[in-house]
Amino acid sequence: MSIKWDSICMWFFRLVRWLVALFLIFPVGLYFGERLRVRQLPDPSTARQQFILYNARMLAMKIGLKRTPDIVIGGYTHSVNAVFATAFIAFEPPVFDPKQFTDREVLFMLGHELGHIRRRDGMKMPWDGDLKEWSFDREYRADAAGVALVGCDSMLEAVTRHYSNFAQGSHDARDPHPTPEDRLKRACPGYVIPSIANRAD
Ligand SMILES: [Zn+2]
Repeated sequence: MSIKWDSICMWFFRLVRWLVALFLIFPVGLYFGERLRVRQLPDPSTARQQFILYNARMLAMKIGLKRTPDIVIGGYTHSVNAVFATAFIAFEPPVFDPKQFTDREVLFMLGHELGHIRRRDGMKMPWDGDLKEWSFDREYRADAAGVALVGCDSMLEAVTRHYSNFAQGSHDARDPHPTPEDRLKRACPGYVIPSIANRAD
C-alpha cells in the first residue's frame, strides 16, 4: 500500500491554517462583538427597533436557527451596511430611521444576513481558488436564502433605492460582491432594477 504523502501534507497544512485562523480571528471577532454589544438594543424604544427585533426572531425561527442573533447598532454613521458574524447582526444607524429605510428594505437585509448565519458563512474561509468567485457565490446564496424568507419585492426595493450602497460592495477588492444587477437577476429571475428616479441614495 502506498501512502500519498503529498495529499497528507496538503491536508495537514490546511488543518494548521484553519487552527491558526480559528485562534487568531475568533478572539478579534469576539472583542469587536463585545464592543458592539454595548450598543445593543436592551429595551427597544422605537417602532422600527421593535419591528427589527420581532422580525429577526420570526425569520430566524423560519430559517431554522435555534437562537435569534443579537441585533446591534454599528458604529459607522456614514455607512448603511449590515454585517454578520455567528451570533449578531449589526445594522448601521440609518437602518433604524424609517425615513431612510422602508420596512421591506430592512426585511431584505435581515433575510440576507440570516442566510449568511444559517450557512455559517462567518466561519468559512476561501481555501484555494478565486476569492472573487468564492465571495460572489456566498452572496448569491445569502440572497437566495433572503428572498426565500421575505420575497423578491423586498430585494427589488432594497437594491433599487440603495443602489449606490449595493454597488459600492462590487468595488471592494478585499470583500468583492457581485453587482446589484447580477444579484437581483440570480435571486429573482425576471426582476429588473428600474430607473434612477426611484433611488434614495
Ligand atoms: Zn452578504
